[in-house]
Amino acid sequence: MWAFYVYVFILGLIVGSFVNVLIYRIPARKSIVAPRSACVSCGKRLTVPDLVPVFSYIFLRGRCRHCGARISPRYPLVELLTAAVFAVLAIRFGFSVPFFAYAYLMTILIAVFFIDIDHRIIPNGLVLAALAGGLVYFAWNCISPAPQVFGDDKWWTPLAGLLPGSGFLLFVAIVGSIIYRTEDAMGMGDVKLMAPIGLFLGWKLCITALAVSVLLGGLISMVLMLLGIKKRKDTVAFGPFIVAGAFVTMIWGWELMQWFFNYISA
Ligand SMILES: [Zn+2]
Repeated sequence: MWAFYVYVFILGLIVGSFVNVLIYRIPARKSIVAPRSACVSCGKRLTVPDLVPVFSYIFLRGRCRHCGARISPRYPLVELLTAAVFAVLAIRFGFSVPFFAYAYLMTILIAVFFIDIDHRIIPNGLVLAALAGGLVYFAWNCISPAPQVFGDDKWWTPLAGLLPGSGFLLFVAIVGSIIYRTEDAMGMGDVKLMAPIGLFLGWKLCITALAVSVLLGGLISMVLMLLGIKKRKDTVAFGPFIVAGAFVTMIWGWELMQWFFNYISA
C-alpha cells in the first residue's frame, strides 16, 4: 500500500515538471513538446540531471549551473504541489479509473491556476484537453457506472454537469457586463473552464464545486483587501478559486453536501 503512494508521489513530481512546461510555454505560444527546457537567463539547454524534479533545485541551491542566475522557487513548488495533489487523490480513490481521471484533470487545472494568476487568461487548448478527457471518463461511466463518485448510476449524470456551473457563470458574466458596462466582470475563460469540471464531477458535485469556489473567492478576496494586498477596485482572477473549489469537491464533496443539508435541516 505504501509503495503505491510513493509511486504516485514520484509520478506527481514528474508530471509536475511537465506542468511547469505548460505554465511557461502555453502563454508564450511555444511548443510544449520541443525543444528541451533552457535557462531563461543564459539560454543553456538543461541536461538530464537538471531536470530531476525538486532534487536538482535543492542540489543546485536554486541557481543555474552555468550562469548562476536564480531559478524561481515556483518550479519545485509546482512539482511538490502536483505530487501532493496526486497523493491526496490516491488516498481518496485508490488504484482506480477515477484516480487516473482526476489526476489528469488536476494536471490541467494546476497549469490553469498559475497561468490565470500570471496572465489573466485560461487557454482554450487546456479547456479542450480537459473536455476530451472528460468525454472519455463519461464514456467509461456509461459502461461501468460509478455511483460512489457521481452520487447515482444514471448514465447522464456527468453529462448534465456541463450545465449548472458554466450556466451560472455565464449568467453572472451577462448580468455583470450589463451593470458594469465592461466585458471582464466575469471572464469567459471561467465559464468555459467550468464545463469540463462539471463533466468530471457530475451535476451535483459541480454545483458544490461552484459554491465552494464562490465562497473561497469571497473569503480570500476579503483577506487580501484587509491585508492591503488588493484594493477594492482591483479584480482578482477567479480561475484559481474554481481550481481550488473543484479539488476540494473532488475529495470532500459528498461530506460537504451532507454537512450542509444537516445544517439547514437542523
Ligand atoms: Zn543560466
